[in-house]
Amino acid sequence: MPSLSPLLLPLAALLLLLASTGPRAAHSAPAAAGAALYQASDHVTPLKFDDLRAVVYSGERRRHWLLQLYHRYCGHCINFAPTFKQFASDVKGWSHTVGLAVIDSADFAQVMTHYGLNGVPSLLFIPSNTSWEQKYFSLLNSEANLMEQLLNQLQPFVPQLVPLQSGEAANSPALLEEASPGRLSRRLILDSLPSLSLRWRPNAGLSGGAVRVSRVPAAGGGAAALGESASIDELRRLLTPLRPPSAVAPPAAAPSVMAKVAQPSDSSSSHGELRPPTLDDLRSGIIRALVSDAAAVSLDKPGVWPAVRDFVRLLNSHLSARSLELGRLLRPLAAWLPEEPPSHDRWLRALADAGFPTRPPDAWVSCRGSKPFLRGYPCSLWQLFHTLTAVRFATAGASGPPVMPVMRRFIIACFSCRYCAENFDKGTAGMEAEIGAQPAPGVELLYLWRKHNTVNKRLSGESSDDPAYPKARFPSAALCSECAEGAASADANAAAFLLRWYGPGAGWASHPEGDSDFAKPAISTVDIMGFSRLDLVIVALCFACVLSVLLAVWCRLSRSGRRLCRRGLSPFRRSPSPV
Ligand SMILES: Cc1cc2nc3c(=O)[nH]c(=O)nc-3n(C[C@H](O)[C@H](O)[C@H](O)COP(=O)(O)OP(=O)(O)OC[C@H]3O[C@@H](n4cnc5c(N)ncnc54)[C@H](O)[C@@H]3O)c2cc1C
Repeated sequence: MPSLSPLLLPLAALLLLLASTGPRAAHSAPAAAGAALYQASDHVTPLKFDDLRAVVYSGERRRHWLLQLYHRYCGHCINFAPTFKQFASDVKGWSHTVGLAVIDSADFAQVMTHYGLNGVPSLLFIPSNTSWEQKYFSLLNSEANLMEQLLNQLQPFVPQLVPLQSGEAANSPALLEEASPGRLSRRLILDSLPSLSLRWRPNAGLSGGAVRVSRVPAAGGGAAALGESASIDELRRLLTPLRPPSAVAPPAAAPSVMAKVAQPSDSSSSHGELRPPTLDDLRSGIIRALVSDAAAVSLDKPGVWPAVRDFVRLLNSHLSARSLELGRLLRPLAAWLPEEPPSHDRWLRALADAGFPTRPPDAWVSCRGSKPFLRGYPCSLWQLFHTLTAVRFATAGASGPPVMPVMRRFIIACFSCRYCAENFDKGTAGMEAEIGAQPAPGVELLYLWRKHNTVNKRLSGESSDDPAYPKARFPSAALCSECAEGAASADANAAAFLLRWYGPGAGWASHPEGDSDFAKPAISTVDIMGFSRLDLVIVALCFACVLSVLLAVWCRLSRSGRRLCRRGLSPFRRSPSPV
């Protein structure tokens, strides 16, 4: 019988090769479970887009909804989460009247277009009498007092919240009096429903936020004062005797979410090492920026389409020649860009035609955070823009459009973290005066570096600051001691460092062109008729396997084959053991 050695060797090599590509495949796995910023235990209902209609707009609903659209990589959304969770805990007793839900636009970008919004976090109050088709909502302001805003939204729908007019009888077991707008009274009314129906009356004579509680006798006679306080817990205690016995369970003290968030996570207390951008991170950032962020804004709004179009052109002109993989995505898209804004569907089709996935990958390498919602997309965006400025600098500014004006317009028009975009808009308002409309490559490289360090300083210690990668001035002394503030030639040293970290000689680029100082051999891909080196090796091994199988069949079935194989394989035969 012919030996299987000719078959096993290439097969083993193929298996080894596939195993060696394993980690790369693992990087593109979908986000880990539990990636969400909110859990049901936070007293909110986390929704998928497909569930929105059934949950929020179901036919016989009597509840109103406060729906938060967020993006798990938006720094402001992360910082806002403890406030929203605390608020959800404070109003959890109102679930008879209003439900709180959240939806992550990082996974369900269509929710932004459904409601015609382009910023997160967005807080939508959806009254119970509206339909899915109407898309009606009122926007709440995440910066202002949420409790009061929600009470104001609910007031037209909950008669008990409407203040009694002078002379109007309180048809309820107790009357609350407080100066307008009745913050505590209205809160107590919703807390007490449905077991106890209270009313309130404005009383300008009461100051300091105090509420007077009075019992209303059944016959409608004069009210008997029960007490007065500005503390919600004390007021709840005063109302306890009026509640039916089954409803007397005191509200459990909500754990302080702020305190919980402020504690460093046990698993992430050790510091990770900052790494230069990888091709995967830059690619994921570009895809998310175009498939998720740009697709979520109305492209025909003034200024939006030029911002998107110029961004794609910028990416193409600086990156396509430096990375085969990025060039494959960007070239066809850049070649298509029309002058007039396309429809939303046409834009998505153009992205799909160019090879963009419909769902952005959520696998980060150098931007991987210690929690699924930390770092990720915004980290890759910063890296992308630093990379663009470094590439332009490396080509000695001979060609290619400036980066900063395009970046600024794109961030302001499309970045899904609207709060971040507004901050960036303010923080770079004087950019043109400072560096000019057509900044020189070195000037914009250092400008972005400084601006990013200003943002790092501002965000240090916020909830979005990953404890494993604390925000600090970059690069650290360990990465570049000559770049420290006040060091001689710190700027020149920083420029040289940024060039090494982000420029065309860094690991993300597959076949750097130009300046030989930065040229490095390609790491994983080569340009042979558009195939990577890995593609070619796999094809060669598959070919070898097919040949081996054919050879084995021939050796077995044909007489001449058997003879030839026996002779050809004789060196592999074990020599007869000595007697
Ligand atoms: C334009 C923009 C504005 C933002 N504004 C806000 C905001 O207002 N509020 C908010 O909460 N979040 C904001 N974010 C998000 C926030 O800046 C971080 O991106 C996010 O918190 C993730 O942080 P990170 O630790 O991964 O580091 P990032 O700040 O995202 O940095 C990414 C990587 O770049 C490198 N790096 C760091 N500093 C520099 C530097 N100076 N020069 C060159 N490379 C550097 C490091 O390797 C770092 O890991 C913004 C993001 C962007 C892109």
